[in-house]
Amino acid sequence: KLSNRLQLVLEQIPTGSKLADIGSDHALLPVAALRSGKAVSAIAGEVNPGPYEAARRGVAEAGLGKQIEVRRGDGLEVLEPGEADCISIAGMGGALIAAILDRGKSLGKLAGVKLLALQPNVGEDILRRWLLNNHWVLTAEHILEEDGKIYEILTAVPEGEAAGITNEQLYHERQLAGGNLVCSKELLLQMGPWLLQAPNAVFTAKWQSEIAKLEGILASLSRSELESAEEKRSRITAQITTISEVLECTP
Ligand code: SAM
Repeated sequence: KLSNRLQLVLEQIPTGSKLADIGSDHALLPVAALRSGKAVSAIAGEVNPGPYEAARRGVAEAGLGKQIEVRRGDGLEVLEPGEADCISIAGMGGALIAAILDRGKSLGKLAGVKLLALQPNVGEDILRRWLLNNHWVLTAEHILEEDGKIYEILTAVPEGEAAGITNEQLYHERQLAGGNLVCSKELLLQMGPWLLQAPNAVFTAKWQSEIAKLEGILASLSRSELESAEEKRSRITAQITTISEVLECTP
């Protein structure tokens, strides 16, 4: 059975897609996408030998060798331009996902791609910034908790193909519902424009634990006499205040 995390990534994929799943490991996502009709064909990309073999085994055991091709290579290098119209990248850091997309873009591999379904483990802000700077519009954000870990899933489409939403609107400074706090573009990039609009209990838990982490850093800094520590202290205090203000506005 698919984890709730991968199930939610699967749900982002439009029915009938030509999917490329990069960093596929056991090829669980492409197999589930084929079985559910979300994908009509798929390419599972893997750079490392162990996971590559695991993907080949997973596809063979599912009897989907005709529909899913497993390819070994770095990031989007495994794709020919136009081969996939939907790309999923899950279970890596946001910086690595952004680097894979960036390199893929310069190689022309994003041509014809209509949707990105991304699940960064950390560094969501880095990924949001890459999407914004490269003319992709977030159409949805999800957050879930599974086995004690919190995951975010970001779905994006090319600018101009997002029905009724632009990046300008998405990252426009705005007042949070239920409070007087004005969200800056930086805060929207950090916490997620859609997540901030409809925060749930997992979102609150994530940012409460972020506050706890920052308070830990603050406590260790307050033992330091260095002048640079003072600067850091005020920066972290400001971060804690902002996050607390956001949480006060959320139900
Ligand atoms: N996508 C699966 C999931 O979400 O359950 C597997 C996630 S696993 C933690 C990350 C996988 O990405 C590893 O199997 C690793 O080999 C692969 N990987 C890391 N960097 C990669 C790259 N540049 N290109 C392709 N695969 C990569």
